[in-house]
Amino acid sequence: AKSGGRNQYRFFDETMRNQREEELELLADLREALRAGHILPYYQPRYSPCTRRVVAVEALARWMHPERGLILPSEFIPLSEKSGLINQIGLTILEQAVRQRCEWQRQGMDVSVSVNVSLRQLCEADFAATVQRILEADGCDPRRLELEVTETLLLEENPAVARNLEKVRLLGIRIAIDDFGTGYSNLARLNEMAVDCIKIDRSLIQGLPRNEEIVRLVIAMCNFMQVTIVAEGIETLAMAEWAHRHGCHELQGYFYSCPVEAGQMEGLLRGEPGL
Ligand code: C2E
Ligand code: CA
Ligand code: CA
Ligand code: CA
Repeated sequence: AKSGGRNQYRFFDETMRNQREEELELLADLREALRAGHILPYYQPRYSPCTRRVVAVEALARWMHPERGLILPSEFIPLSEKSGLINQIGLTILEQAVRQRCEWQRQGMDVSVSVNVSLRQLCEADFAATVQRILEADGCDPRRLELEVTETLLLEENPAVARNLEKVRLLGIRIAIDDFGTGYSNLARLNEMAVDCIKIDRSLIQGLPRNEEIVRLVIAMCNFMQVTIVAEGIETLAMAEWAHRHGCHELQGYFYSCPVEAGQMEGLLRGEPGL
């Protein structure tokens, strides 16, 4: 407030400037990391309790910093979203994940790959064409690629986004709703969306068994929509058993494996079944 006097204003200006400077520095570092190939995917398995196999792996961005070591998305994805750099980050993760999937396939491991996509990417007019080009470069079957889009994003009425989703789906690529059950959902609109998979957010899974009724309701709705149901954030045997018993098709979480580098994932895939 104005009554705070001049000193307070100067202090405020200074913190603002420092924060801005820090962001600019982080952005410069990020651009350099992209050029140097230090942004790469880790992989986390999605396990089918019925077939007892890993059916898919999710690619999750990691920044391998030469001095600071491994940096998690929470430290660089928000700023990337804000600045638009998420387009390049999303692209490099997609490229690397698709190439890795094809490499695994050549070695006899036919696992699908799922990649997170941000709103910024889906607003680009050439998004679908870019994805198609990446798939064709490696001769990757589009049906082995899934794009994870957050629930809030899907429910906004955005023609550019809707067009892109329609185009990629026509290519045979699967669409998953990520973090389902966290936001406000327009159920009627959700039912109109052409999606293949719903990932129930880990906050719902980790609220079990306290919130059993609500998760059962979410699962019933997914079944009505005839989508693949993934339970995220499975950390214990009890959670895994509950999700399996209540009809979740795929389970993902630390109970099976945390996200690991490609080489380690390969070891897990070879060591199947049971992980
Ligand atoms: P997400 O897409 O919901 O990914 C799942 C997050 O939950 C991952 O965090 C994963 O490590 C973590 N997780 C998995 N199993 C468990 C569990 O059992 N317990 C707990 N507590 N956590 C678990 P991560 O890798 O730090 O990624 C965080 C978020 O960053 C992702 O959430 C996603 O929204 C975003 N992100 C990561 N990579 C990309 C990317 O390439 N592009 C975009 N646009 N966003 C990304
Ligand atoms: Ca995800
Ligand atoms: Ca999620
Ligand atoms: Ca998320």
